[in-house]
Amino acid sequence: MPTINKKVTSMKRIPSHKVVYSFSPKHKPAEHVNLKEKILLETQDAFGNQIKNENTSIEKLDWTKVNGATGPLYINGAESGDTLIVNIEEIRMPEKGVIAVVPEQGALKNKPIKPTVKVVPIRNGQIHFENGIKLKAEPMIGTIGVAPKTGEIPTGTSGKHGGNMDAKEITAGTRLYLPVFAKGALFAAGDLHAIQADGEVCVSAIEIPGEIILSFDILKGRNPSWPVLEIRDSYALLACGDSLDEASELAVEAAVEALMREHKWSFEEAYMFASLAVDVKVNQVVDPKKGVRAVILKRLVSIESLCPEKHDKNFQ
Ligand code: CA
Repeated sequence: MPTINKKVTSMKRIPSHKVVYSFSPKHKPAEHVNLKEKILLETQDAFGNQIKNENTSIEKLDWTKVNGATGPLYINGAESGDTLIVNIEEIRMPEKGVIAVVPEQGALKNKPIKPTVKVVPIRNGQIHFENGIKLKAEPMIGTIGVAPKTGEIPTGTSGKHGGNMDAKEITAGTRLYLPVFAKGALFAAGDLHAIQADGEVCVSAIEIPGEIILSFDILKGRNPSWPVLEIRDSYALLACGDSLDEASELAVEAAVEALMREHKWSFEEAYMFASLAVDVKVNQVVDPKKGVRAVILKRLVSIESLCPEKHDKNFQ
């Protein structure tokens, strides 16, 4: 694992070997956490830190050890029907990351793809890709979520519980609102990217291990129909589906319902307004479920309308 400059800190630290490969109410908590308590999660990269250099054969990886998420954390006080508020305070990066292309994966999966791994230095907040071409690092969390009510959802996919959403806006300084389905929420996160564009077209980004500093709050007795991300002056509803069409429909439906609640509008009025004020953007087109986000300015909708009381759709 690349070196991370570990700052001295007294907060609870969850080591990266406390990893799960699914979200499930049956997992034993790695730690119990109080509201507002700062927690540091050490995370493995999406390949389970198995890629050591560019000679690593992508086809020989242990694919049962990928897409791990550190946790789960039992959040004291979180109960089914609440919203877990995740304050993402800081994301710490190592000095290098990896990106790979894999046959039959990504937006161009129908092309003949030679399995290829690239190790990329990260220096002074810059990704050094090739031939002097640099990109500013914009570290983000790929996989972040809570346990479903029953059963088990692999960490490689996404849903109403969050999961492998690969939304580039999930960065330090944002706040994620997740519906709680199981007592204690059983939160886990991992799969950091040093940078990723909307789409994540080649199936991976600059995949890094790292450290996430978080704290939690709760909205009691309210829950969103999809995870909601608070980004500076806007809220993004993060929906997913088997196609981009389905994901867009679900995100727009949730946005229109929130606008109806907020302004007491009819469906038709809210639908028209959404066409003017809701931006539908692509998160990724390469995971098992495709993801979009519907973005609304905070002055046009409140968090209460996005996380209504007695929202029973999730619990039918
Ligand atoms: Ca991912």
